Amino acid sequence: MAITREELHAKLKTFFGFDSFKGNQEEIITHLIGGGDAFVLMPTGGGKSLCYQLPALCLPGCAIVISPLIALMKNQVDALREFVHTEDSAHIAHFLNSSLSKTQIQQVRADLTAGRTKLLYVAPESLTKEENVAMLKTIKISFYAIDEAHCISEWGHDFRPEYRRINETVSQIGKAPIIALTATATPKVQSDIQKNLGMTGARVFKSSFNRPNLYYEIRDKSDAKREIIKFIKENKGKSGIIYCLSRKKVEELAELLNVNGIKARPYHAGLDAATRAANQDDFLMERADVIVATIAFGMGIDKPDVRFVIHYDVPKSLEGYYQETGRAGRDGGEGKCITFYNHKDIQKLEKFMQGKPISEQEIGKQLLLDVVSYAESNQCRRKILLNYFGEDYPQDNCGCCDNCIHPKEQFDGQRQMLYVMELILSLKENFKTEHLADVLAGVSNSLIKSYNHHKHPLFGVGKDRDTRFWAAVIRQGLVLHLLDKDIDKYGLITITDKGMDFYKKPYPIMLTEQRSFTECDDDDDESIVTRPKPGAGGSGDPILLAILKQVRSDLSRKLNLPPWVIFSDPSLEDMAILYPVTLEELHHCQGVGEGKARKFGGEFIKVISRYVEENDILRPDDIMVRNVANKSGVKIFIIQSIDRKMPFEDICRAKDMDMNELLDEIESIVNSGTRINIDYYIHRAVDMDDMEDIYTYFKEEAHSDSLDEAMRDLGDYDEMEVRLVRIKFISEIGN
Ligand code: ADP
Ligand code: MG
Repeated sequence: MAITREELHAKLKTFFGFDSFKGNQEEIITHLIGGGDAFVLMPTGGGKSLCYQLPALCLPGCAIVISPLIALMKNQVDALREFVHTEDSAHIAHFLNSSLSKTQIQQVRADLTAGRTKLLYVAPESLTKEENVAMLKTIKISFYAIDEAHCISEWGHDFRPEYRRINETVSQIGKAPIIALTATATPKVQSDIQKNLGMTGARVFKSSFNRPNLYYEIRDKSDAKREIIKFIKENKGKSGIIYCLSRKKVEELAELLNVNGIKARPYHAGLDAATRAANQDDFLMERADVIVATIAFGMGIDKPDVRFVIHYDVPKSLEGYYQETGRAGRDGGEGKCITFYNHKDIQKLEKFMQGKPISEQEIGKQLLLDVVSYAESNQCRRKILLNYFGEDYPQDNCGCCDNCIHPKEQFDGQRQMLYVMELILSLKENFKTEHLADVLAGVSNSLIKSYNHHKHPLFGVGKDRDTRFWAAVIRQGLVLHLLDKDIDKYGLITITDKGMDFYKKPYPIMLTEQRSFTECDDDDDESIVTRPKPGAGGSGDPILLAILKQVRSDLSRKLNLPPWVIFSDPSLEDMAILYPVTLEELHHCQGVGEGKARKFGGEFIKVISRYVEENDILRPDDIMVRNVANKSGVKIFIIQSIDRKMPFEDICRAKDMDMNELLDEIESIVNSGTRINIDYYIHRAVDMDDMEDIYTYFKEEAHSDSLDEAMRDLGDYDEMEVRLVRIKFISEIGN
């Protein structure tokens, strides 16, 4: 069928409301309408859908759109019906998958047979069903569109075996032009797809994969959580996606962000459909700024103003990475792509591969090696990525990735690589990276000693550098294919043929001075917990401290409350270190709960802001991270039990602690600003008159919250009674 340029533009406008085509959409569409096969390589957000949607509306018959995600089909069909303003838009597009009821299927069939439907979305497993094949045989097919076509290839990052049967089914149903579309084709995947679909003669439409507005950065993953919180706080109000590999991590990180005042929602396949949809909606409607997700999130998500994509865990392949980072800055605006990387994560991913078929392992290993090589490279990241997709990027410096902005040093590593190889050979290729690196660096530990390797002639030949350096040399040897790693055999390092050639006839090899990527992980939340809190002995700005004490004493007189009830000394000291200027920041100071911040904080932050401004003070940019574990399980249990008026003795028994320990915990709860009501227990444990005396003492006489002082001043009261009333007092007055 032929269609004029004017007609096509008119249809674009009437059906979709767009004034012009994007990139090479028009060429692709004209080609398809003309009856040719098309293979479309276009980055995420490029506008692939339109390449089959518009022709489907122009051509006689119905187009079959094969798409992998059942969940997205409904969205796409709804969006299309929304777009296409015709009287029978309800019939114009349908989807066929396992989620439909019998009646719904009948409706779809009726529309198809009546020729009312122009686009039918099908999941590959529904397409191959016999009854569907039989039905589709009876209608006129305009063409087949295979979206996310990389799912066909084992080398793609999202291989789906069902995709392999598409070709066979299509020939059963009947011949029609084919358009295959993908955003993630390396040359290898590309050839796989074409061969598999029998469309090697198709015209290939390849757009540039360069996304000039995206900024790429790889960071060492040693303090990732803190850095993420800091980054998000510096980018307040912007939308972003954080990818994690496991559901558990998604949950944890989302919670941590929320505890730190960031509106984040989790998204992963383990959540029920309603929660998932609600969380996704919150993100799209900007009720939440951040979505923390597994890679299950994002396919087909079309939010144009995602400003950052963070990979908390290293992705499994560069294709996945490119697809996911591609969701940033679709509107052409800012898009920061930050990946946290360490070797432990790579090892974890390698472990997942153990026991899988060798061919799959080989593929997975190579894909991962490409990631390692990308992460550790000192080259322009844009250049590496584009090269990976078979595209040449002519410049050497893109000016928009960490390597171009902060170049890393290089050195000739010939000698170092030879040491490594000599050691590998002398140890008969029987050891792993860390062990080899330890021997070269001359690190003697029990493992080394158990092999007597501290007496090895090469022990310590490279002791001018540490284990990390040597491990990096080995990793770069892997990337250069001089070395190989046997994943099934615990990652033993061997030498490849290419490596043997180098060993026999060495030549210069440029290695990168590592920006230190840690071997470990920040999973262990200790990195947050153990960081010394300001104020833990530290002293702050003495002038500010004096001012704050004055503010406190004024306030104390005004409110007729003892100063220490308002803010304790350690709280004020923290303020004199952290210079908080918002209630939110104030909340990060020791002993300042939300309640206290709200109740008494206003005056303090006002004074601090003025002080900061007048004295040109650079506030510490290191953001205090509130840990989820702050309210440890025990504390939460105690708070809940007290809410349920559980006798203290029972709480002690349940948590295996004595009364003193319980009171310590409760004091720490109220001191950090949480309000609890323990009257039910005080009524049982303390005489009412005593209670009032002690309460009045704290309210009117006490000079501090010191228990010792109170015991001394009050004379002969039981310590437990005093403590209980003091808790009541702090909770009621302070919080
Ligand atoms: P892809 O599948 O390639 O990732 P989509 O088909 O989802 O991309 O399209 C991305 C966005 O671009 C969508 O919001 C779509 O409406 C928009 N778009 C597509 N074609 C055009 C066009 N010609 N003019 C304006 N916007 C377009
Ligand atoms: Mg798409």
